[in-house]
Amino acid sequence: MFAAGIINFRHNKYKMQNTFWNENIETIGKEQLQPLQLKLLKDTVSAALKTSFYKNRLYRSGIKSPDDIKTLGDLNKIPFTTKDDLREAYPSGLLSTSSDDVIRIHTSSGTTGTPTVIYHTKEDLDNWTELVARSIVATGFSRSDIFQNMMSYGLFTGGLGLHYGAERVGATVIPIGAGNTKRQLQLMRDFKTTTIHITPSYALHIHSKFKENNIKRGDLCLKRAFIGAEPHSENTRKKIEEILEIDAYNSYGLSEMNGPGVSFECIYKRGMHTWEDSYILEIVDPVTQEPLCEGKEGEIVFTTLRRKATPLLRYRTRDLAFVYKDSCPCRRTHRRISRITGRTDDMLIVNGVNMFPSQIEEVIMRIPEVGTNYQVQLEKDGALDRLIVKVEIYSKMFTGNVKELDNLKEKIKEELRASIIIHPVVELHEPGSLPVFEGKAKRVIDLRVKI
Ligand code: AMP
Ligand code: ZN
Repeated sequence: MFAAGIINFRHNKYKMQNTFWNENIETIGKEQLQPLQLKLLKDTVSAALKTSFYKNRLYRSGIKSPDDIKTLGDLNKIPFTTKDDLREAYPSGLLSTSSDDVIRIHTSSGTTGTPTVIYHTKEDLDNWTELVARSIVATGFSRSDIFQNMMSYGLFTGGLGLHYGAERVGATVIPIGAGNTKRQLQLMRDFKTTTIHITPSYALHIHSKFKENNIKRGDLCLKRAFIGAEPHSENTRKKIEEILEIDAYNSYGLSEMNGPGVSFECIYKRGMHTWEDSYILEIVDPVTQEPLCEGKEGEIVFTTLRRKATPLLRYRTRDLAFVYKDSCPCRRTHRRISRITGRTDDMLIVNGVNMFPSQIEEVIMRIPEVGTNYQVQLEKDGALDRLIVKVEIYSKMFTGNVKELDNLKEKIKEELRASIIIHPVVELHEPGSLPVFEGKAKRVIDLRVKI
């Protein structure tokens, strides 16, 4: 399926070639894309009407059959779907196929309580894999590459998503998953890894560990990184490229839309091509919910077009970005979104893991020794993030028994870790020592400077 295109010389020492995985679909013209989207949208509405959740909701909006969608403009008749809707529909309110047809589930990272679940049929996974293959080939990745996947495997979609995509391309996959820097470096050197999939913060961190692990850049064959799962600036990308001497490509996705492989940069790195034969992309004003034109920053809203088990209509991602107006020299026609500039909610991303401050509150407030005030602080710890949870505890706890306080600290730490997945630093404070707010409490202090 490979097709070579124009040759482009990068600032790095490697020659980059614009290659396609599926040239026809990647360069599809508007006159073909729109009828295809309309047909797939009708299929999606038809699938959605089979779910208990959408059936009620679509009926209320006057959509009783896919034939009520006559043009792509009729998308406006469909109400938005939110993360809360997904929680409300948990566990199976959004399942559109027989459960026998489901072969895998994924959930959104970092959320406990009521998670959001996405079901996948074999066809769903196959389509997802195609999108990932298409995305990575757009960066010049090929079957000759050695791919070390440093994203977590499991319910988080980053690991398995890229794994299957890279295998489909025919590359050699090293499925190490996240963490264990020493082993990562050893494998990178011994198996001549050319491409890594990594969070931007871990990419910076891993470089800082070269020296103590006796690794010199010259020992490695590294050419490129796919970086994603957390927000990062253009300067962070440049820094990663500079210190690791590679090309770094931004990869955006979310578990509700499969995971990675939704929007990906090509070799030109001018925004992320969003695969419009598989998703309808809208940018809306987060307040008025009115659609915004190209170039205007707003909230990304996606409608799945090819998903059978969990169709999602006009899903509000809460991520902010804009669509580039110009076309890309790579000839791909799928519109490009900017890097993610922020979120419309208070979701925090700490070392690639999503969490809401409310999750932290829920955990600490159920611990009887904890008082009424707390604060969450985020700092940089080298290239990684550090989460500090400061909690006021009742004065009766300060008995001079240090062991008792240590045990309490451990208990809070452990309960937080079980809920938010990452390991926080816990500080115990005396009552009245943390700032009190008369208005809306400012509980989260984010001291991570954007580089
Ligand atoms: P999850 O559903 O756990 O995969 O998390 C998806 C969320 O991670 C998105 O909604 C974004 O907020 C964030 N995210 C993923 N990729 C990127 C990226 N390349 N840049 C910024 N944020 C990202
Ligand atoms: Zn391009």
